[in-house]
Amino acid sequence: MAVNKEKYKEIIAELEGKATLVAVSKTKPVEDILELYQLGHRDFGENYVQELVDKEAILPKDIRWHFIGHLQSNKVKYIAPFVHLIHGVDSENLLKEIHKQAAKNNRVIDCLLQIHIATEETKFGFNEAELHNLKMAQFENVKICGLMGMASFSDDMNLVRSEFKKLRSIFNDYFSPKQKTPETAETPLTIHHSPFTLSMGMSGDYKTALEEGSNMVRIGSLLFGERNYNK
Ligand SMILES: *Cc1c(COP(=O)(O)O)cnc(C)c1O
Repeated sequence: MAVNKEKYKEIIAELEGKATLVAVSKTKPVEDILELYQLGHRDFGENYVQELVDKEAILPKDIRWHFIGHLQSNKVKYIAPFVHLIHGVDSENLLKEIHKQAAKNNRVIDCLLQIHIATEETKFGFNEAELHNLKMAQFENVKICGLMGMASFSDDMNLVRSEFKKLRSIFNDYFSPKQKTPETAETPLTIHHSPFTLSMGMSGDYKTALEEGSNMVRIGSLLFGERNYNK
């Protein structure tokens, strides 16, 4: 299935100046990625470590690879040399491993903390209490750039919107320009990097996410067509 270039241009125009588009290319062939690349697109998102490593090896080096899936600690080492942003950091252990692998590669890896906002139990992420207790100052080779979340997989846009609102409000508490300064912070999670990223919104709900303050959307099927996992 060909890439929907019309849709791509429409979305880019819609996001202009407000949000970054991560084109989610998981399960899709490198030819599809190159089609968007030739239109000037550089941010691509993948969910599976092996697939990402294989694609990175043969595609242009100026692509910014976003890892958006659930990352297992033992696989961090494969993507640490090149990954641009890891969206789904959901445990202190994983942070520690990313720090270790980043240090080995002499780099600082940008990360987003994943927050559990959906009603479904199956989605990964920190809850607010866990976020509050997170101690991450010791991980110098990790830069926490913001938050990521996935809303419930639902047609109920009121539910989806309320989940995005919740994520936005947590984001504002920790990452807005008016965030608590380290001196007055009531929490061990002190953050001093900018600009901050709020990654929320996918093909089915990105418009709602933008209305609720998203500045990074992750869109796959609208651009590349439905995915077929049984190929
Ligand atoms: C697959 C995936 C997307 C893209 O989903 P679409 O509905 O195809 O746009 C976005 N974010 C994450 C975390 C994903 O796993």
